[in-house]
Amino acid sequence: MRACRVCGGVSLGPVIDLGPMPLVNNLLDAPGDRCPTWPLKVVFCRSCALAQLTESAPADEMFRDYRYFSSQSRTMVEHARQLVHRFVAPRHRVVEIASNDGYLLAHAIERGATVLGIDPAVNIAKHAVKRGVPTRCDYFGPATAESIRDEFGRADVMFANNVLAHVDEPHEIAAGIAALLADDGVAHVEVPSLRRLVEGCAFDTIYHEHHSYFSAIALRALFAEHGLVIADVEEIPIHGGSLHLHVARGGDETAIDRMCDAEREAGLDRDACYLDFTDRVHAARDELLRTLGGFDTVAAYGAAAKGIVLLNAFGLDRKRIGWIADVSPHKQGRFVPGTRQEVVAPERLATEMPDACLLLPWNLREEIVERQGAYLQRGGRFVVPLPEVETVVAAAVPAV
Ligand SMILES: [Zn+2]
Repeated sequence: MRACRVCGGVSLGPVIDLGPMPLVNNLLDAPGDRCPTWPLKVVFCRSCALAQLTESAPADEMFRDYRYFSSQSRTMVEHARQLVHRFVAPRHRVVEIASNDGYLLAHAIERGATVLGIDPAVNIAKHAVKRGVPTRCDYFGPATAESIRDEFGRADVMFANNVLAHVDEPHEIAAGIAALLADDGVAHVEVPSLRRLVEGCAFDTIYHEHHSYFSAIALRALFAEHGLVIADVEEIPIHGGSLHLHVARGGDETAIDRMCDAEREAGLDRDACYLDFTDRVHAARDELLRTLGGFDTVAAYGAAAKGIVLLNAFGLDRKRIGWIADVSPHKQGRFVPGTRQEVVAPERLATEMPDACLLLPWNLREEIVERQGAYLQRGGRFVVPLPEVETVVAAAVPAV
């Protein structure tokens, strides 16, 4: 088993074992298509409370079908606009790591900043350049950072949103930031919070593309190794609960220290915390299977990564769940890896009226329940799987 990605520690304890899992972002073109699986098992480091996968899936398999454009998500575009508004001033030099299709830097350009994006996905970087966002197609690390420093200058502001969890070597990112950041610059780093994952029972955010699950304790140790400090930290709701770090060459560490203390108090560096987490996930599975067992016909809603993790981890195959509705026309007509349900248009809910519909993106339940009102009004019901199983029916219409 590999040592801790942050501190090199070898005393690792179990977090959860989700069994063999396909690559959840790769939908199948036909139900019988080849669909390899890899173990999906997470451990944590007893010294720095980093959680990480015990083994990775091959990178070329994972990014074969990389089609995620951030600008397709309204929430992410609005979040980017706010970040730029808060932290970018005209004349700033701004560098974004994993800049995707340039949705954040486009706002920074509007604000009068000089920008450079870095993203390794060729098709996505091309798209950014086409919309007028200078983008270098490369992986980010100390060598890339030094060459950018020579050509572009040091960065007053850097952004690295949702990058650290996805890379095999988080030290490469931290070392690159240390090489490129101006003396009084700030790097804004956002990463999903391990504490929120555990406390919110959000095991369905664990999949092969996410190598690491960061505690504040691990983040502090990661940046300290490169002479950087976390001068401020905020908790934000993005991706089910993330941390927004202000990484700088110096500053007051009171906020991050307080958060690390709270994590130790919550037991994030101890085995008992994760045994309890696994128990809660298993209890949620048993309760969900019992609830769904009460219905003859069951469909699901939301063919995104997290939903596909849940279907596979709980063994909800085509016999139990007939099909899965999703608004994306790119997904319709394709099939869920592992459990092999067909993805169909959401209109099918109200026309076919399954007894129950498992609502997989449970973090967006209000929005989805509202949008699929027709199904509920005709007597359908949504079953929400997490953090606790809940059945949602149409609100009674008040008598007039
Ligand atoms: Zn560690």
